[in-house]
Amino acid sequence: MGLVNDTVSAVVKPLARWVGKDRNKTYDDVEAALLRHHPHADKEYLREAYEFAHKAHEGQTRKTGEPYIIHPIFVAFILAESKLDIETVASGFLHDVVEDCNVEVSDLEEKFGKNVGCIVDGVTKIGKVKFRDKEQAQAENYRKMIMAMSNDIRVLIVKLADRCHNMNTLASLRDEKRRRISQETLDIYCPLAHRIGMSHLKAELERWCFFYLEPEAYKELSQELAEREKRQGKFLNGVKKVVGKLLDENHIKAEVSSRVKSKFSIYRKMKRKGCSLDALYDYYAFRIITESVEDCYKTFGLLHSKWQHIPGRIKDFIATPKANLYQSIHTTLMSPDGQSFEVQVRTRMMHRIAEEGVAAHWSYKDGRLMNVGKNEFESWLKKMAEDQKDVEDTDEFLEGIKGHLGAREILVFTPNSEIKTLPAGATPLDFAYLIHTEVGHKAVGAKVDGKMVSLRSELQSGSIVEIITKNSQRPNEEWLQWVQTPSARTKVRAWLRKEERDKAVEVGRNKFEKALKKNKIPVKSVKNTDIVARLPVFEKRKIEDFYAAIGFGSITTKNAVKPFLPEDPEAEANRQEALEERRNRAIEKVTKKSKNMLQVKGHNDILVRLAKCCNPISGDQIVGYITLGHGISVHKKGCRSFAEQNVNPARKVEVTWDVGAETSVFMVKLKVFTEDRAGMIADISQVFTDTKTTVQNLNAQVNEDKGVGIFDITLQIHTLDHLTKVIQNMKRVKGVLSCERFQ
Ligand code: MN
Repeated sequence: MGLVNDTVSAVVKPLARWVGKDRNKTYDDVEAALLRHHPHADKEYLREAYEFAHKAHEGQTRKTGEPYIIHPIFVAFILAESKLDIETVASGFLHDVVEDCNVEVSDLEEKFGKNVGCIVDGVTKIGKVKFRDKEQAQAENYRKMIMAMSNDIRVLIVKLADRCHNMNTLASLRDEKRRRISQETLDIYCPLAHRIGMSHLKAELERWCFFYLEPEAYKELSQELAEREKRQGKFLNGVKKVVGKLLDENHIKAEVSSRVKSKFSIYRKMKRKGCSLDALYDYYAFRIITESVEDCYKTFGLLHSKWQHIPGRIKDFIATPKANLYQSIHTTLMSPDGQSFEVQVRTRMMHRIAEEGVAAHWSYKDGRLMNVGKNEFESWLKKMAEDQKDVEDTDEFLEGIKGHLGAREILVFTPNSEIKTLPAGATPLDFAYLIHTEVGHKAVGAKVDGKMVSLRSELQSGSIVEIITKNSQRPNEEWLQWVQTPSARTKVRAWLRKEERDKAVEVGRNKFEKALKKNKIPVKSVKNTDIVARLPVFEKRKIEDFYAAIGFGSITTKNAVKPFLPEDPEAEANRQEALEERRNRAIEKVTKKSKNMLQVKGHNDILVRLAKCCNPISGDQIVGYITLGHGISVHKKGCRSFAEQNVNPARKVEVTWDVGAETSVFMVKLKVFTEDRAGMIADISQVFTDTKTTVQNLNAQVNEDKGVGIFDITLQIHTLDHLTKVIQNMKRVKGVLSCERFQ
């Protein structure tokens, strides 16, 4: 703590690029900055955004005790200075009002337009959802932000500006929290800033991360660099003069400047190479900004004729731009007394892109963005969002994001000379998946620069890669080791999971059918619709899920067949009696009546009752069975409980409906599965009104997890036609998934 607080003002100039003399900014500063870059921007609109934010944050303070509004003002200022359009700057003012002030996104959309609403929504943390733990909350917030970013990249830019100002005020936090935030910034936000080429925001963020994470090293390196700069100022000026003269003599118009590279990048390099400052070639960099690409190459030639260059350090990012569209030629030269220095040569436009990144690619009118067109960055973000969309596991998701961001990149070519970017260490298999998922799945080998190589070899920048495919090829477990990119890994994993699942479905189906046979249920008698009707019992949506669960063993075969087994009619009757005596009485009343509705061939005066397992109704095809002591019970033809009893054929009798049976009333139970939506009960009730049906009992349950409603309905039905009509009408109700007569 001590070191950080003592040195924060001495060592790190806070937001040096923007702060100037004043630590805080005012609305006027923001407006002036916006108008400098967009002279025709709508001042009224900007002021309204500011005043809205000011009112919303009224009374709130920051950890430092200052009024909260200084934060959004500063964020807006950074955005205006970064040449962003008016909507982005307005979003800077408004970026915290939804999260902190009970303002709805719709309010912002109404007042400031849809774009501002979307941007602010994108930077707002998910509020109302309860998360399992901190990690899940963080992952879900990233997921939301990345999805929003992929629709409008300004979401990211506002988030970066927000981070910049927050990093500046971390000193008032506890050390542990400060480190955690710094690490997150370094892992996620710095790479994002780099990827969209906003190098000034990236440098600012990195500087703070370095300072908070390694305060000792930061202080030491700062002092060492300052000393060297003093000592070698003469050398730097000397080189600058010589370069200037050289260009003049050759009639090349250019600006020459020199600087010490960013402390963090120097430190990172020293750490990576395990060397001291002296062993680095390039902590000094000269920048030459020319008028044309031609002049860039001419300048490059002149420099090489004047100084010795260090082999292997020429990088032509003009011919092959970096993934973030950075362009320049880099080379490292050596003065006669052995002092090395790097030179970067670029045109003015390249310079703008190097500094402003994505913002340099847009065109503006009246300070508003003309088209947030499809540029490299957005398609990259879209891809990242796409890759991460279906990743449910929190750790896997965060790893995927970091993987997308952290990697150093190589450039390789397709046989048609198309440039593709991959992280260093990527293999031909990664390349294959990058081209197309199917190319990945079917890849058997690769040609790199015309030579056959294995799919798992490491690709080098600049190679031409051709993938050889074969239709019979299938991905396998081993491939997870071969691929280096998260997106390829996700694709291989998805394929393997699907294949595993397909197998489980097959195994599950077999096990299920065997279990049916074991229980003497003909497999053919169990239709898909029968299974679908029982899926809610297993909390499954699709038959495949049901089979897969059996295959994976999460549903035992015993439990799987249970709902398909015939219910014991006696036990069922007992249960019914115990549970709903009243309804049973009613049913019995009707059942007794039924004696007169049925004719039993060859038997008279014999007790006839309708079986409760299938509740036959007038019009159903029926069959009678002489029970011991209970007279004849009448079942529907094909009733499963009847068919499965060990029936004695001698006891079967033919029964027919008597004329006039249609005036009788039968109790029929329906089971209806529906979507869970408002007004469902009303719509279902309408069916009964329309078909003039009396409802004896209606019981509705909602399974909220699955979003299904389950209705158990007992109806008074006259004939089979009547029932058919009810079922038909029911199935026409919007949201009714199935409606079955329930035995
Ligand atoms: Mn903020």
